[in-house]
Amino acid sequence: MHVFIAGANGQIGQHLLREMADSDHEARAMIRHLDQGPELQQMGATETVLGDLEQDCSEAMKGCDAVIFAAGSGPHTGPDKTIDVDQDGAIRLIDTARAMGIKRFIMVSSMHAEEPEKGPEKLRHYLQAKHNADEHLKNSGLNYTIVRPGQLTNDEGSGKVAVNARLEGFGKIPRQDVARVLLAVLESDTTTNRVFDVVSGDTPVPEALAKL
Ligand code: NAP
Repeated sequence: MHVFIAGANGQIGQHLLREMADSDHEARAMIRHLDQGPELQQMGATETVLGDLEQDCSEAMKGCDAVIFAAGSGPHTGPDKTIDVDQDGAIRLIDTARAMGIKRFIMVSSMHAEEPEKGPEKLRHYLQAKHNADEHLKNSGLNYTIVRPGQLTNDEGSGKVAVNARLEGFGKIPRQDVARVLLAVLESDTTTNRVFDVVSGDTPVPEALAKL
């Protein structure tokens, strides 16, 4: 598949490119700055393309069969960017995918995005933005999968996870394992139109997804 990756230069995005390097898929990494390109191509991007989620990305998405949204405004920008990128940027990308006939859309969301008001107070604005984007995706008619990781870490991945439609608490998961889950979702038949939480666990990723 030709896969368009939003947030390819991010921490999950870079792990994903490394995982995809050994796959049969073509990874089109969307970047915001040209100088990010060579390193990402060394990691595994088949090609890089300039784009910004706050603008129209249709030119950058041409010819792709699937989208993985691994972008985020991050903790160092204000609440306005959470709306501009995590919510409206995601919604614009979903609408563009639909308009272009790109049918598969995989979203990196977050645990507690289902019910933002029950999440930690300092995260509620972010969780509401993720919630709004997730709901838009669910109602888009696209073949979607919404992956909701717990707290991200930079530990080495174990390749083993716990997944469920809803998990209690707010467990942790290495970004490398989130990337493995994203690639496995792309290749699985069981995750279409599914939403699930994922944290570190005892079950190898493909086996965990097969049980969903
Ligand atoms: P990250 O390292 O901050 O990467 C975010 C990526 O988004 C970067 O590549 C950044 O581009 C890109 N981006 C930001 N604004 C953009 C825009 N306007 N247009 C295009 N790209 C843009 O994030 P991460 O650690 O990989 O995490 C990915 C996502 O996981 C988070 O954003 C969050 O929504 C979700 N998540 C996080 C947690 C957590 O514990 N932190 C938990 C659950 C879910 P540049 O490289 O050019 O800056």
